[in-house]
Amino acid sequence: MCGIVGYIGSKEAYPILINGLKRLEYRGYDSAGIALLNGDINLYKTKGKVADLEAYVVGKNIKGTIGIGHTRWATHGEPNDVNAHPHFSESKNLAVIHNGIIENYDVIKEKLKNDGVHFRSNTDTEVLIQLIEYIYKHENVDLIKAIQLALGQVIGAYSIVILSKDNPNTIIAARKGSPLVVGIGKDEYFLASDASPIVEHTRDVVYINDEEIAIIRKGEELVLKTIKNQKKTPFIEKLEMDLNALEKEGYDHFMLKEIFEQPRSIRDSIRGRVNLKKDTITMSGIIDFEERFLNARRIIFTAAGTSWHAALVGEYIIEELVKIPVEVEYASEFRYRNPIIDDKDILIAISQSGETADTLAAMRLAKEKGALVYSICNVVGSTIARTSHAGSYTHAGPEIGVASTKAFTSQVTVIFLIALMLAQKKGKISNEKLRKLIIELEKIPSVVEEILQLNDQIKELARIFTYARNFLYLGRGYNFPVALEGALKLKEISYIHAEGYPAAEMKHGPIALIDKKMPVVVIAVDSLIYEKIVSNIQEIKARKGKVIAVVTKGDKTAAALADYVLEIPPTEEILSPLVSVIPLQLLSYHIAVMRDCEIDQPRNLAKSVTVE
Ligand code: GLU
Repeated sequence: MCGIVGYIGSKEAYPILINGLKRLEYRGYDSAGIALLNGDINLYKTKGKVADLEAYVVGKNIKGTIGIGHTRWATHGEPNDVNAHPHFSESKNLAVIHNGIIENYDVIKEKLKNDGVHFRSNTDTEVLIQLIEYIYKHENVDLIKAIQLALGQVIGAYSIVILSKDNPNTIIAARKGSPLVVGIGKDEYFLASDASPIVEHTRDVVYINDEEIAIIRKGEELVLKTIKNQKKTPFIEKLEMDLNALEKEGYDHFMLKEIFEQPRSIRDSIRGRVNLKKDTITMSGIIDFEERFLNARRIIFTAAGTSWHAALVGEYIIEELVKIPVEVEYASEFRYRNPIIDDKDILIAISQSGETADTLAAMRLAKEKGALVYSICNVVGSTIARTSHAGSYTHAGPEIGVASTKAFTSQVTVIFLIALMLAQKKGKISNEKLRKLIIELEKIPSVVEEILQLNDQIKELARIFTYARNFLYLGRGYNFPVALEGALKLKEISYIHAEGYPAAEMKHGPIALIDKKMPVVVIAVDSLIYEKIVSNIQEIKARKGKVIAVVTKGDKTAAALADYVLEIPPTEEILSPLVSVIPLQLLSYHIAVMRDCEIDQPRNLAKSVTVE
């Protein structure tokens, strides 16, 4: 969601900014723009892609060694040229880029308008830069103070970067609730929403914290202050990111690359955490809080989207193995409903990006109420990781495709490891069973490898269903969340309406939709309730629905009933979501490709949802 980049140094800023914006394209956006400080501020912006911006600036003055760039994901004001960022202040002496929402923008705008300020756009962002200029002009303060005072008045979330004509060697940035990273090079600085545009220039970064302002001057040390003007010492961290992970490496799309990376990413999620010789699992984040985990009255998972589906799998796994009651909450609901939670509860927040605004807010609420807050994130150093008391990284590597794939399997792997560790410590699992499950878990990467061989078969299958306007996905037990995830994948990238249901719930509504045109994907792998799901398939066939069944190799019954069959190798039922999801990811990918959809940047979607 929205990309921010900035550069200050002695190189030409434009190519660095454009490349940076391309690195951030995966986050999802509708317009793009840049501003370069070179005596005046030259500002160019346009609706559309970064490529449209590049075409737009041809022949224009793009010189300058200080600049900012933005890809916008509109919240306030339609996506058009005028509402694109950067935004000028009225005098055009200041320019800003912004990620987030200024919630009280209308009140401030009314006041400023009454005081004669003219606005050009419909955005909340312009209100902020106009307010800063207004204070700067009328309150006889320097720019930093004006920014601090303005930020003290706004309600909402932001990361902002500001250029000022009167401060020609300076970039000023600030954040509250939205991400911002500063890269420190040799006599140069880079700014970005995440580390991906920075890593090719420098590995030294400072993550700006909430309510902090970064004052970045050419040739000088980075200065950090709070909005209330307290000095802070920048904490420099080293980026560990493989540059190849940011490239498609021969695949047509990042999504496909990431689906195919899963044998590796699942292995990386397990690596170093399992000791088969000693039959132990070690999740280092848990160790310091072991007592609280073991005595927890309840575990509450909170998440959004695909991570929420991983959490649902987590509920099944933890209740089965650890015998602690689990609840799963949409972060966006949890945060606003005054939930009952206290110091006997543990909140586990799951987020690929570690920046999901609602999840972060849910964590803060749980913390205030005394709960232990644990995080499961992919992005190292992300806000959610840093806000939690402790956590586990998934180590899946950068996920660029907006439709999450490898993040899901890594999240489920990490939850499974946490469950095993807790089950052992609580004495809820025999060493024999633990050992068996560890061995099965370690086999999962090669099972996934085998399932990926179905790619061509799934591609053919996808051809048959490109016409479909609706899809139903059904699963039971551990595979009910997988049905939800399969449906979500299809919706996200192919724009086909799809719904996931626990198979038995079909009779309570969705069965009315079934006719000969309705494709129904049924996850019918070996399980304790296999017979039940076979009955559900019978019910669909009786109404002439088209069944695509994901079954365990060698299956006869479900396979005989289904119209199309995808066979996957056997696994322990508790681990089956890690493998049954793979064919569903591939199915949605190929259907979307055949429908000519934009795979890695589906319309209206953003990778990291940094606004609520
Ligand atoms: N709320 C701002 C706008 O709509 C910023 C959106 C973004 O984060 O891209 O312009």
